This record gives sequence, structure tokens and C-alpha cells, in this order.
Amino acid sequence: LTPQNAEQAIRERVTPLPAEPCALQRCAGRVLRQDVIAERDSPPFDRVCMDGVALASGALASGADRFVVQALQPAGVPALRLADETQAIEVMTGAVLPTGTDCVIPLEEYRTDGPAIVLERPAATTAGRNVQHRGSDARGGTLLLRAGTRLGAAEVAIVASAGLAQVQVSRQPRVMVVSTGDELIEAGQPIAPHQVRRSNAHAIVATLRLAGLAEVGDDHITDDEALLQRRLAAHLAGHDLLVLTGGVSKGRFDFVPDVLRRCGVEQVFHHVDQKPGRPLWFGITPDGKPVFGLPGNPVSTLVCLRRYVQPALALLGGTTPQGPEPVALATPVTGSPRQTTFIPADLRADDGPPRAWPRAHRGSGDFLSLAGTAGFIELPPMAAARAASTIVDLWRW
Ligand code: AMP
Ligand code: MG
Repeated sequence: LTPQNAEQAIRERVTPLPAEPCALQRCAGRVLRQDVIAERDSPPFDRVCMDGVALASGALASGADRFVVQALQPAGVPALRLADETQAIEVMTGAVLPTGTDCVIPLEEYRTDGPAIVLERPAATTAGRNVQHRGSDARGGTLLLRAGTRLGAAEVAIVASAGLAQVQVSRQPRVMVVSTGDELIEAGQPIAPHQVRRSNAHAIVATLRLAGLAEVGDDHITDDEALLQRRLAAHLAGHDLLVLTGGVSKGRFDFVPDVLRRCGVEQVFHHVDQKPGRPLWFGITPDGKPVFGLPGNPVSTLVCLRRYVQPALALLGGTTPQGPEPVALATPVTGSPRQTTFIPADLRADDGPPRAWPRAHRGSGDFLSLAGTAGFIELPPMAAARAASTIVDLWRW
């Protein structure tokens, strides 16, 4: 199975969670499950976009440069009407353009003279100057945002502009992160020389929190088959997606694949032609909950999380997974002739476009070398070295 086959198998099985209503004030980072349609024209009226005076540009053609100020038109007030072309109306940015006027002269370009203003450069102004016409950005009824869009700051502003106090969004997945292994000891607890700090689960939780997931649980289970089965059954009942680390290889205590099958999780694949992360396990419950068994080696864990689990979370959320981006290699690099190779990489721009600098590391246990990297590059099987400047896929963390 290549990484692309594995990705495809995941895409075929993961379906979006149900939608739920969400208040405008809380919808940042969520995925829309409805289209957002313009409530009105945008701007909704001919809008003044400078502080100054509005007048009828026709009067300028006949050489007039002095206009009596008839009234003041602030923002938020219905349009006033210009009495005649010898007059002007003082206007503020965001006001409705007064009826009978067609341009705005900014206050830097005139001086006041008693009840009137005198223009410095009348010839500089034509109809439409400093006016944004009604509907020039979008007509009412236009599709502004499509279902499946993730709501960033600009999108939230658009939801508000469409007058929606709440929108339909995908329900947030409830995720449980489970580490397995007798050797793992939590930070803050005393540790013996033969034991290992439990770090992967924290990295996974950190990734998911940084990606905006609010409901991420965390458990540790020792390599005890019966205990593993009881606890995984409970976690499956209460969550939408499970991520396990460790216990998926061929060791005597690697119980995860068997236990998951006994919990009713259908195995979709086990093992992918990739390094690191070959033992990766993926399955799905009869009610469509994805379950990932990530190899325990810390680099494998984080690479598989980004390459497979995060895309599955995007699909659960009803949006398109964020794929890799093409970047040029800064230095030559050799992959493997038989399997896909993932190599942690920095992304740096020294005098030009950013390039990927593969980070020297000592195998899949060396997570210390990941600090500060931008992500990892993916090299499909190939015997020959890739030269510097070759374009490769970079998966950002
Ligand atoms: P396993 O996949 O269970 O055979 O574990 C492979 C390697 O990763 C072993 O050296 C484990 O000690 C280590 N490992 C497994 N889980 C974790 C974890 N949560 N944090 C740190 N190291 C881990
Ligand atoms: Mg283990």
C-alpha cells in the first residue's frame, strides 16, 4: 500500500459528522455546513468613502469653485437631498451619498469661507469620485461562502454581514488520544533508567488543540490485553475518532490490531510502504468512526498524524484536507528505491523563495531533531538522489 492508496482508503470511508447550529460569536475555526448568501447589495447604498463635501459634478464643468454648505450627512442617516447645484452637503465616511450629488471632495482639497467652501482644484473631480456604488462588491442574493468553508476572520465578517446570528457548522469531533506501553511514565512522576517519558500523546493533543479542536481526551493504557480491550471499548462508545500510539508492530506485546478487531473495528489497512511509519493501522467502526493505530516511535507518530489523521479529521469536519505544498530542495537528498520516505525539513528563504532544508536526524526515535522544523518532505520511491532545486511535496506540521 502506498501513502496515496492509504489516503484514498481513508477518503472512501470517512464521512462528515452531523451539522449543528453555532452562534456567530463562537463560529471562528468551525466548518460551514450551509451556503451564505448576501442579504443585500454590498455596499447596500452609494457609499461615501472620504470625509468631505458631496456635490453635483456637473456644476464643476461650468467653472464653479464656491459652494454653500446646505447640511451635514453623517453615517447612519437616510439620504438628504441637495437643494440645488450651487450648494454642497458635508458628508462623513460611511454615509449614504446625498440624493442629487455624485462625487465627494475630501476635506484636504477645500477651505471654508463663512457658510461656504472654496475648492482648490475643481478640475480634479469627476462624477463617482470617492463614492462606492451600491452593489459594486456583490449583489444581494450572491453566494458569498460555500458549505465546507472553514471560518477564518474574514469569513466570520462575511457571515455577520449577511445578517446571520447563527450558522450551521459541523459538530466538533470528540477525539480520544491513547498511548500504550508499559515503559511510559508521565512527566512529573519519578522515572527509572529502563523507563521512557510519555511524550507522543502530548504532541498529538498539542497538534489537535492548535488545529482548533476543543474536545480532545487523553488516556494511557499499559500493555495488558484485557485492560486494553475494556478501555478501548469505552473510548469507542464516547468518541468520534480514536488515535492510538504504540503497540501496532509485530512485537509480542503489540496487541492493538487484535484488540481493535475484537472491539468491532473493521481493519481497513495495516502497514504502508513508507519510512518512518510502516506499521500504521487504520480501521473504521460499523457506525463510521475512524480509528488510527500510529507506530509508537515519536517521529513516525507525528508524521502519520499529519499525513493521515489530520486529513481524516478534516473529512469528519466536512471540509477538504489541507495537502502538501510544492517547494524546491535546498540540498540534494536521497530517499529509498522501495518505499516512500518522509524527512523532517526546515523552510528558509535566504535571498529568494523559501526552500526546504532536510534536517539531519537519527531515525524515527529522534524526535529532538523535529524542534523548529516546518514539516516534512515526502519522497516517493526512487533509487537516484534528488538534486538541489528539485520540487518536492512539503507537509507542514
Ligand atoms: P511501539 O510502537 O509500542 O513498539 O513503540 C515504539 C517505540 O516508541 C518504543 O521505543 C516506545 O518506547 C516508544 N513510544 C511508544 N509510545 C510512546 C509515547 N507515547 N511517547 C514516547 N515514546 C513512545
Ligand atoms: Mg509498545
